[in-house]
Amino acid sequence: MSGIQRGVFAIRIDRNYCKACGLCTAWCPQGVIVEDADLYPVTPGIANCINCKLCERHCPDFAIEVLPPEHPDHPIHASAG
Ligand code: SF4
Ligand code: SF4
Repeated sequence: MSGIQRGVFAIRIDRNYCKACGLCTAWCPQGVIVEDADLYPVTPGIANCINCKLCERHCPDFAIEVLPPEHPDHPIHASAG
């Protein structure tokens, strides 16, 4: 299948590794990622993520990961309770 999918991806950010450098925010072409008050990345625009992985590829600390819906850690697989 071709075409860009939106609204199906999740972003996982590991604050144990993230140093709040802002690179992922700067690289995201979709405005998905913004910085919180402590300059850590958060993803209020996740519905616009196109899985380009520019955030993931440019993170110097491997702290951010794009999760496709089939990934077992994607929130859609979280079981209640
Ligand atoms: S590029 Fe990586 S280390 Fe920098 S703010 Fe984003 S997740 Fe954190
Ligand atoms: S995969 Fe691309 S569109 Fe999605 S958050 Fe990362 S840089 Fe932005």
